[in-house]
Amino acid sequence: MHSPLVKLLQDTIKADGPMDIGQYIEIVLGHPKYGYYVTRDPLGQAGDFTTSPEISQMFGEMLGAYFAHQWMNLGSPARFTFLECGPGRGTLMADMMRIGKAFDGFRQAVEIHLVEISPVLRQKQAEALRGYGPVWHEDVSTVPDDVPILMVGNEFLDALPLRQFVMEEEGWCERYVDYNEEAGFHYINASSRDGLERNITCAAEIGDILEVAPLRDVVVQELCRKMKASGGAALLIDYGHIKTAPGDTFQAMKGHLDCDVLEHIGEADLTTHVDFEALKVQAEKMGAKVSDSVTQAAFLNLVGIAQRAEILRAKATPAQAEDIESAYHRLTDHDKMGALFKVIAINYER
Ligand code: SAH
Repeated sequence: MHSPLVKLLQDTIKADGPMDIGQYIEIVLGHPKYGYYVTRDPLGQAGDFTTSPEISQMFGEMLGAYFAHQWMNLGSPARFTFLECGPGRGTLMADMMRIGKAFDGFRQAVEIHLVEISPVLRQKQAEALRGYGPVWHEDVSTVPDDVPILMVGNEFLDALPLRQFVMEEEGWCERYVDYNEEAGFHYINASSRDGLERNITCAAEIGDILEVAPLRDVVVQELCRKMKASGGAALLIDYGHIKTAPGDTFQAMKGHLDCDVLEHIGEADLTTHVDFEALKVQAEKMGAKVSDSVTQAAFLNLVGIAQRAEILRAKATPAQAEDIESAYHRLTDHDKMGALFKVIAINYER
């Protein structure tokens, strides 16, 4: 017996032909009724993956301090939008607000806006942010831009659809997901339907795979347009690479273990790494001031996570102190989340 989501994919492919990886990701993760994110809370021990804010409050606290500083850089505006895209359980926003509130005027000025497609997670966010009256959006387009925007997205862009191109003898071909009874879901390569590969400038050898994420570009452009209107500062944090380069980063994860992207459909998270060079190019085209991308370790150490860990440890029981120490290492060690995760800052003056 196939799940309704599997049936829907089979029927769509039968009717319209093979689908590109982007369509596949969009349906599997985001289908309004059966999508992976729409039907569950995927986070934590009992779920499929764990994120930085769920590992330690220090992550959100450092970001809270960063954004309080950005707010002051914008001249401490009397009203601003604090926007989070893909807020998960709302833990990051709650931790950021705990620190932000300590700054005079910040609490009075803030209006929290959340871009979230999952009703299950919206519910968790409502609980975590009780008292703040957050406003939810399906996508960035409806977020107000009449006041400055401080924006954060942690592991948000990696959930957005992306397409893959394979270099063959005759040039770039697109990778599609096809289905038939004998082979089940499988990949085929074919010429793309819209000629997107004509924009690829990256050098490649036969067999190389290049990933292109038009939807991420659209989100970054939209975000930039909004921040341009009244000023703003954004931080995007994700698994990813600083330079555009070939490579297949499409992965599925279930119960904290890697699995096949064409199996456990709707029961496993699908992710791809973010090309931070492509983000930087987009944001610069929109006239933003954009930082170089740095590792999560470099960013967190720069904003003082080691000092914060020290302060928390001093007040902790021996068992808590051990947890703080281990969380600090998980977030910043290069063989854990410190190096694979990157951070980029986008700024507009007021
Ligand atoms: N930022 C959180 C959660 C990361 S998981 C954390 O660090 O813990 C990805 C989040 O993005 C989830 O909240 C998921 O529901 C949301 N999401 C996934 N696809 C989305 C989309 N297309 N639009 C808006 N939110 C999306």
